[in-house]
Amino acid sequence: MFGPLFQATEGTVSGQQTVNRNSAPSTLKITDMRACRVAANYDYPIIRIYTNQGVYGLGDVRDAGVEGIALVLKPHLVGKNPLNIEQNLRLIRMFANHGRMGGGYSAVDMALHDIAGKVYGVPAWRLIGSKNRDRIRIYADTTSHPDPKVYAERMRKRKEMGLTFFKMDLQSSMLRNRAGALNERGVCTAKGLGYLCEYIAAIRDVIGPGTPLAADHFGRLNINDSIQYAKAFEPYQLSWAEDLLQVGERNQYPYLNWRAYKTISEATQTPVLTGEDIFGLEGGFKDLLDNRAVDAIHPDIATSGGLLETKRIADHAELCGVAIAMHHAGSPIGGFAGYHCAATFGNHFLAMENHALDMPWWQDLVTGVRKPIIDKGHVNVPDDRPGLGLELNDAVVKEHLRHPGYFEPTPMYDEFIVSGFHTGGPWPHYDETGKWCNCVTYE
Ligand SMILES: [Mg+2]
Repeated sequence: MFGPLFQATEGTVSGQQTVNRNSAPSTLKITDMRACRVAANYDYPIIRIYTNQGVYGLGDVRDAGVEGIALVLKPHLVGKNPLNIEQNLRLIRMFANHGRMGGGYSAVDMALHDIAGKVYGVPAWRLIGSKNRDRIRIYADTTSHPDPKVYAERMRKRKEMGLTFFKMDLQSSMLRNRAGALNERGVCTAKGLGYLCEYIAAIRDVIGPGTPLAADHFGRLNINDSIQYAKAFEPYQLSWAEDLLQVGERNQYPYLNWRAYKTISEATQTPVLTGEDIFGLEGGFKDLLDNRAVDAIHPDIATSGGLLETKRIADHAELCGVAIAMHHAGSPIGGFAGYHCAATFGNHFLAMENHALDMPWWQDLVTGVRKPIIDKGHVNVPDDRPGLGLELNDAVVKEHLRHPGYFEPTPMYDEFIVSGFHTGGPWPHYDETGKWCNCVTYE
């Protein structure tokens, strides 16, 4: 009964023998990590991971973060084979956390996928799954204005850029000069919520009733405030209300409070979304998803853990019937890491943000990708170039550095800084035979 099975196995083995393995990268090693920081609407810290064979990878540390959160990981990675992506990431997972603290791990993940894609000659998306879409829909972040007419005009400009999915900031603080609009906590009264809805109505008039529109940045809302806001927005059929909950228990990030989010979601028809500052599936998104506490999640690939972890998060969301959008306010490197990743998501994917639509040189920071990067509100997923598929445009990046230095040597990060268990030595101790030794390893 095992005959056919063995035949199939033999066939597979002989098939592999025909593959050209002249470039099999068995001796590839990480040799260095360096960085620079682009001064932008939010700073873009960018890293390069170098190898002993000339190939290197690019990674984007979370926007408004600092490169040190990645560089402290350098001694944990130097000497390792960059192609062992999961093993390398496991080594540094303990140094990752929510918000900007996820930026180092995430940048390393991006750089390792860039290297692996270049070495194997495949686009990064192929390393984590299959391409489920050729274009990524981009949603437009739009800065608010207290005058609904001016705000609507800004949104009209977004529409003229070809965007098909919109988001508005809807700060309660826009109403601070309107009598009776805010309570003593700065949260909208019923009257204030009426004013907020006027902004939504003005923008709906511009973009049309069926066009996706989300809203964000409401202020310091608690659970009951969140419910009242979300219910007031129901007639306008928002795609989502983002990060409603901003206050809660001591020592708990509001976005991890799945019980509070479940209470909010169950009280309103407005879809509820959170997650731009959450790292990881376990200890991060999992409770929100398993408990169906939100309608959609919103990872930022430069905090959530890079391509591999964000793919895990997206797949788990699909399993739980929760939609996924992507936050993004960083450089095109993190942008393309997100586009590659989102290309593999299921049909629960909504859209990915771009926060640099008004920054003329954003797309000039890189070469190798199709321009304009955002074309009619979408980005083409690269499938003809390996890795992330882009290179830095050195001249443009150097024009916009936050501080002097462009991928300068980083000897100050050669030593273990934040944790160095069983590194260095020697350690005087009795070995397993009872003999005193002053040796480097415990083996
Ligand atoms: Mg947001």
